[in-house]
Amino acid sequence: MARRRSAVRIGMTGLGEREALAPGIFINTNYRGCTPGFIYTDEGIIMVDAPLIPKQAMDWREQIEAEYPDSPFLYMINTDHHRGHALGNQYFMPVKVIAHERAHKEMSGYTENFKERVRNSFKREPEIQAQLNNIVIIPPHLTFTNRAALLYGGRRVDLMYVGGHTPATSIVWLPEEKICFVGDIVWVDQHPYMAQGNTLEWLRALELIRNLGAKMLIPGHGPVCEPDATYRVGEYIEFMRKRVRDYYLEGKNKNETKSGLVGEMLEWFPVPPERKAKIESQIKSGLNRVFREIQREEEEKAGIVSHGFDDGDEEDDS
Ligand SMILES: [Zn+2]
Repeated sequence: MARRRSAVRIGMTGLGEREALAPGIFINTNYRGCTPGFIYTDEGIIMVDAPLIPKQAMDWREQIEAEYPDSPFLYMINTDHHRGHALGNQYFMPVKVIAHERAHKEMSGYTENFKERVRNSFKREPEIQAQLNNIVIIPPHLTFTNRAALLYGGRRVDLMYVGGHTPATSIVWLPEEKICFVGDIVWVDQHPYMAQGNTLEWLRALELIRNLGAKMLIPGHGPVCEPDATYRVGEYIEFMRKRVRDYYLEGKNKNETKSGLVGEMLEWFPVPPERKAKIESQIKSGLNRVFREIQREEEEKAGIVSHGFDDGDEEDDS
């Protein structure tokens, strides 16, 4: 059988090599938009998240095929429906995509307008923008609501819905290897993207992850970390909840709360100058979200019937 070896090509792209975490388990932290991973089993490959930028997605595919030329792609797990995790699905076909059922709902609703927004977000990088001319959305073929397990070739891969970051966020737990892909629940030295968040769920998810007994965590963005990394992002979320509640109880409205607190939140993590405007608007989306959550909590405390909690109107991003 002709084996496809693409090591030379990997060197040429300059995108950086995969990193082995355990026998047959790899990640790559050199791509923009997410840290994808894959798990080898005797029956085929299970992937976690797909790079957003087409050339990077193709590079990743080639790296996986170079490592295991004869293994079919079994599944692509998307830890949420955001562009950085799920938009690259098309480059791994004919794999079966699996994600929480809410991810299916969100991705089935991605319009031409959404694709245009993705392209526009790269308007200062025309070379990347041009790569995104043919975005094909591949929503999950298989969905789950609470838990699912993939049992292939002697491996056990648990999919666990946790919510928090989005209503679709799931983590991928390897109980034998004690490795957990935590999606966008854990952020290290970065501001978490909270525009579609639910902070009480998020805090519960951090606790769940902390109690797994994991040896290492792979955040959706950035390098491997230890379970202790869950504390700092938890403190950030608790602080934001507290400060938003202070403002709410002082009678401040949503806009006053956002502009009043963005500076305090910015100080939590380093922000490169060229990303300041973007991060500021991201923090404001999070504050907006948390304001509504606190408002609902306070209204419930006061016995006011809640007007419901919509959770689909924020820009999809991270
Ligand atoms: Zn996300």
